[in-house]
Amino acid sequence: MYKLNKKIADLKPYDPVEGTYKIRLDANESCFNFNSEIKAEIGKAIQAVDYNRYPDPNASDLCSAFANYYSISSSNVVAGNGSDELISVIMSAFLMKGEAMAVIEPDFSMYRFYSSIAEVNCIGIEKNPDLSVDINRVIETVNKENVKLIIFSNPCNPTSRGIESAEVIKLVSSVNALVVLDEAYMDFWENSLLQQVSNYSNLIILRTASKAVGAAALRLGFAVANTTIINAIKAVKSPYNVNTISQIIGTIIYNNVKYLYNVKNTIVSNRLELYNSLNSISLKYPARLQITQGTTNFIYIKTCEAKEIYNYLLQNSVAIRYMGEYIRISTGTKEENAELISLLNKYFS
Ligand SMILES: *Cc1c(COP(=O)(O)O)cnc(C)c1O
Repeated sequence: MYKLNKKIADLKPYDPVEGTYKIRLDANESCFNFNSEIKAEIGKAIQAVDYNRYPDPNASDLCSAFANYYSISSSNVVAGNGSDELISVIMSAFLMKGEAMAVIEPDFSMYRFYSSIAEVNCIGIEKNPDLSVDINRVIETVNKENVKLIIFSNPCNPTSRGIESAEVIKLVSSVNALVVLDEAYMDFWENSLLQQVSNYSNLIILRTASKAVGAAALRLGFAVANTTIINAIKAVKSPYNVNTISQIIGTIIYNNVKYLYNVKNTIVSNRLELYNSLNSISLKYPARLQITQGTTNFIYIKTCEAKEIYNYLLQNSVAIRYMGEYIRISTGTKEENAELISLLNKYFS
């Protein structure tokens, strides 16, 4: 009888919050769908698709639009079917079976997941108790343990904290390991290394269209690195990894610079407002709720009532993310945030 091997036998399919809820604040998506002008532009462009033909394997138009938006060269860019695909491709191609990689925990759980599929040894470096990162300790561990690849999100999901770019540069220039810097939330903070990527032989930056850009449905991610690394990723990825429809819509959205800029600013201001409202609740109940000031589109909250709060909100059709001693709440629209706050006020009184 056929048996699943031990690396996959106990895996469970990824299970986001199930069911339909009026307000979704659980997955760090953008709270804004495309506006009607952009939807009309997309509708027109989709009419001209040759559905019988394979997509452009280099996603050239899309990579150019992305590169223009961030003022970098498209020769430093490769597109993926979400950055998740790129994380998986990078781990399986840039590491040999059994080699060591490192993560800085707590961090995005998919890193460890893909490392186990790639059959590499994943070392966890603990963050400080206040969730900041001791870069010197990270450098020391990477060099001592012969780590070949280190991956982390900056700003971090789930903590929402950022590491200043000077600190990241210190890490990149002090190790021989490949540094995979996941800037999924860097649109919300101004410490990107995108402009400097070609100065380093060992740096890959990941970006996604799933957060600030508001296009999670399309599955679009990007790796940015020097051309040697980019050509290697192009050679190992599956040839038609990004479908034609996503390429076309992605190109349109990255060309709408003003729209993206406005949406991003609105999200940041909603996040600040949400932080202030949550903070005033935590000032009233300091023993029950501790809020971390963040640099993303979500807020990470320590509370020993995580499960109770999560369930209470779900019963009222508001989905957030439950994470043990913490909850993570993505910012919604002003109206959604107001409803969340009024429910939380009811819960705490
Ligand atoms: C959401 C997220 C991503 C995005 O993944 P996609 O596959 O592009 O949707 C990547 N990294 C982190 C840390 C994230 O939170």
